[in-house]
Amino acid sequence: MLNGLMMDYPLTLDTIVEHARRMTPRKTIKTKLPDGDWHEYSYADLYRRVKKLGNALAALGVEPGDRVGTFAWNNYQHLEFYFGIPGAGAVVHTLNIRLSPEQLKFIIDHAEDKVIFVDGTLLPLIEPIAAQLQTVEHFVLFNADKSQEVNLPNALHYEDLMAAASDDFEWRCADENMAMGLCYTSGTTGMPKGVLYSHRSMMLHTLGVLQAAALGPTEADVVLAVVPQFHAMCWGLPYACAWVGSTIIMPGPHLKPAPLAEMIESERVSIAAGVPTIWNGLYHELRQNPRDISSITELVVGGSAMPRGLIEAYERDFHVNVVHAWGMTEMSPIGSVSKLQTRHHDLDQEGRWDIKAKQGYFVPGVDARIVGDDGAELPWDGETMGELQVRGPWVAAQYYKIERDREHFTADGWFRTGDVVTIDGDGFMTITDRSKDLVKSGGEWISSVDMENMLISHPDVLEAAVIAIPDETWGERPLAVLVPLEGAYDPGALNAWLLEHFPKFWLPDRYVVVDEIPKTGVGKMDKKVLRQWYAHGKL
Ligand code: AMP
Repeated sequence: MLNGLMMDYPLTLDTIVEHARRMTPRKTIKTKLPDGDWHEYSYADLYRRVKKLGNALAALGVEPGDRVGTFAWNNYQHLEFYFGIPGAGAVVHTLNIRLSPEQLKFIIDHAEDKVIFVDGTLLPLIEPIAAQLQTVEHFVLFNADKSQEVNLPNALHYEDLMAAASDDFEWRCADENMAMGLCYTSGTTGMPKGVLYSHRSMMLHTLGVLQAAALGPTEADVVLAVVPQFHAMCWGLPYACAWVGSTIIMPGPHLKPAPLAEMIESERVSIAAGVPTIWNGLYHELRQNPRDISSITELVVGGSAMPRGLIEAYERDFHVNVVHAWGMTEMSPIGSVSKLQTRHHDLDQEGRWDIKAKQGYFVPGVDARIVGDDGAELPWDGETMGELQVRGPWVAAQYYKIERDREHFTADGWFRTGDVVTIDGDGFMTITDRSKDLVKSGGEWISSVDMENMLISHPDVLEAAVIAIPDETWGERPLAVLVPLEGAYDPGALNAWLLEHFPKFWLPDRYVVVDEIPKTGVGKMDKKVLRQWYAHGKL
């Protein structure tokens, strides 16, 4: 064998802020503060504060390998934690603020967080469990008024620590295989499981995100990250944007449609990223209160399936280019993107929307296959459904402190996504369902996702979730849970609408109206809760 003769240069995250302070020191990061004012500073400022944070962490006794939690909205402080904690050799553990107190306590104890940075606006969510946490030595508050009463043991103020810290700090992350981040999966089944990223995997993922074939932000972009920093590393955007020097807009706690619409208009946002629920809300807001969102070149959407009807509505009504992406916490998270390719240029509008509604092609760096129940690989013919399995340099090899099991990882080194998909001959993937959400009626599969997409594209429907309910004759039957747009709907009209696309046996046995579909901590429809409601006679 002849080895290459290239430098063994570590892939570590300090590289990103070092690059940014030289290349784009004057580009800015803007945060909408809790009181609605803007905070703005430069990448040069970010760099100085990240270095100060390194010293502040060392002063708190944080050692390389320690886990440090963050409990925060998207803001500049959270961005500092994204760089400063790994830069100090520790692991930034982004805590999902929407989890239940029990889940939060479980995760913090499981991760053994030593310090937790807490957004002052979120105190009431963490105070009730703070005294019971087993390993936390300090809580560090920011966005908090000093006069505010705080019920946290050993609470400190972030700005006090920063004021006392020097900005002369030597990075403590020389080894690219060191852990840098920890994120627990949202847990729509069972207890949350931790995914532990390394500097190397996150740097390669960042390069992956920066590809034009993926999300591809550039220096010229103004990027609004609506996807929370506590969800799947904010889809890698903070690292990708900082490396190229994009302007970053952080919405803080202002996630309602109206303030988001204002931000897009006033900041001339070019790339905005969020889950379908957010963009569904924004669409209806814009219909009522039109605003200029023509600056958007990519409305990135992922986390759950973007209904084709909503892609069409955005493009038809607002001329906004929707980019549908798929990923998982276990994949850092980028997996696939549905951007049009050359062969799609001749398609008419309808044909293009069909393509954009797919989850898309796997980005370079991600390897995929579909597998049947018997473990055999299935063809990429756009029709055969099977479980999607992936592998690659930014895909998890096991969960944190859990033995590598066959339920999630195959013997030959692939990660089992649990998504049921088809892939066509050009590598475009379509998710038909989560394996546990498919409805099996009389031995035939019904895709709950397809039905939800069709229901939500009906003008009377705001939200729709389809779950399987037990049935004596058929095994399972679909039940549709709806939030009508104006309060009223006609089941007959909905059935007729569905019958235009699906066989008769797909029609829901019943429609049930609720005020709101329950959501998981990351804004996905929580079918586990719906199934519980059903089991307890609440639907
Ligand atoms: P999480 O790790 O919380 O991001 O959840 C990952 C799961 O979300 C995937 O396995 C999919 O089931 C689902 N998901 C993510 N993006 C999409 C998408 N674009 N379309 C459909 N499902 C998605």
